[in-house]
Amino acid sequence: MISQLYLFIGRTLTDGDYYRVERLKPPLDSEVRHGFTLTKRTGEQHTVAQNIYGWGCSCGDFTFRRDKRGDVCKHIASLEAVGLIEVQT
Ligand SMILES: [Zn+2]
Repeated sequence: MISQLYLFIGRTLTDGDYYRVERLKPPLDSEVRHGFTLTKRTGEQHTVAQNIYGWGCSCGDFTFRRDKRGDVCKHIASLEAVGLIEVQT
């Protein structure tokens, strides 16, 4: 079956972007349990993945700001909001 999942992430329908959501396929990095790639139409891609420490994202917002505060970025929050991942707090 050929079908793809798109997730719109934004404040409103005119202020945001569509992301293609794909589950990470093996082989995964040794520390990664599972995760997803989110790809914008521009080709920009972020990886949301779970390791032994919890969920992380490769985006700048998470890497440089939210990770240190124990906060999640919009990519993690959106995947959780639609039930694709569960983030323990
Ligand atoms: Zn992110």
